[in-house]
Amino acid sequence: MSLVYCDLHMHSTASDGTDAPERLPRLVRDAGLSGFALTDHDTTEGLAACAKAAKRLKLRFIPGIELSANPEIDAGRDDPPRGTMHILGYGVLHDDARLAEIQAWLRDARDQRNPRMVERLNALGVRIDYEEVVEAADGGIVGRPHIAQVMVRKGYVKSVHEAFARYIGEGQAAFTRKDRLSAADAIAAIQGAGGLAVLAHPVQLRLPDHEALVHVVKRLKDLGLAGIEARHSDHTPAEVERFTELADRYRLLTTGGSDYHGSRKSIALGATRTPMSAFDALVEALADAT
Ligand code: AMP
Ligand code: ZN
Ligand code: FE
Ligand code: FE
Repeated sequence: MSLVYCDLHMHSTASDGTDAPERLPRLVRDAGLSGFALTDHDTTEGLAACAKAAKRLKLRFIPGIELSANPEIDAGRDDPPRGTMHILGYGVLHDDARLAEIQAWLRDARDQRNPRMVERLNALGVRIDYEEVVEAADGGIVGRPHIAQVMVRKGYVKSVHEAFARYIGEGQAAFTRKDRLSAADAIAAIQGAGGLAVLAHPVQLRLPDHEALVHVVKRLKDLGLAGIEARHSDHTPAEVERFTELADRYRLLTTGGSDYHGSRKSIALGATRTPMSAFDALVEALADAT
């Protein structure tokens, strides 16, 4: 029965998704899900509109955010994580002052980075304007997906995938790193806004082995981590099992979601079958935390 599933990870036009926040609830309902969370990159901008539309459709909703953090944390080992560290915040207040400050800081970091990346592209013969990129983001958080979108439209690459693989992916010629929050600050900001912090898609940390992940999770738990996103569209069934066991071992919650981005990625909303019990456990933990 699909009615007992939820999707706790998705993006709207407030960041790099292609569906407006007020449209998402209809898609959630059409996918046969009972509950969901909106987790835009570095912004709570879409939460109020999404919550309102969810209520109208009688869907259960958890307001969320996905913060990018610096993966180079002191995990007691020499090999720092090499990939991406994203921390999900669930149950955050839309209007928390400290979280608003963090969002402003993150926006600033992007405003520093994005034009530099366009400059590098220009130097490589990819002639796109920064204004076009900002337009592509349409008022939302500006990111590499919008740069890729303009590159595709202007015919420099055939796909977003090619844009990342050849130019703007980590390690490619136009890639420019932005200033990142520390994991400690990300978790503190989420907790300060009344939320629970969950380590998103652990595979994207690109750690050398499971032991390295255990070290990272232990360290994050000391900083206040409440859960691990065990189910994600990037995870194999074996990984889901491994991350679930790890969460159980450290008494952490498990969450799951598709990481739906609308038409920008091929992942369907609800693609990751996360049982509603994960939603309920999150709500219960949020009630206990306050
Ligand atoms: P940014 O936060 O501006 O660095 O952009 C990161 C976003 O780009 C991620 O959230 C993904 O949605 C997207 N992204 C990262 N790597 C790739 C890739 N190889 N192919 C397509 N999209 C990607
Ligand atoms: Zn994204
Ligand atoms: Fe992410
Ligand atoms: Fe995401």
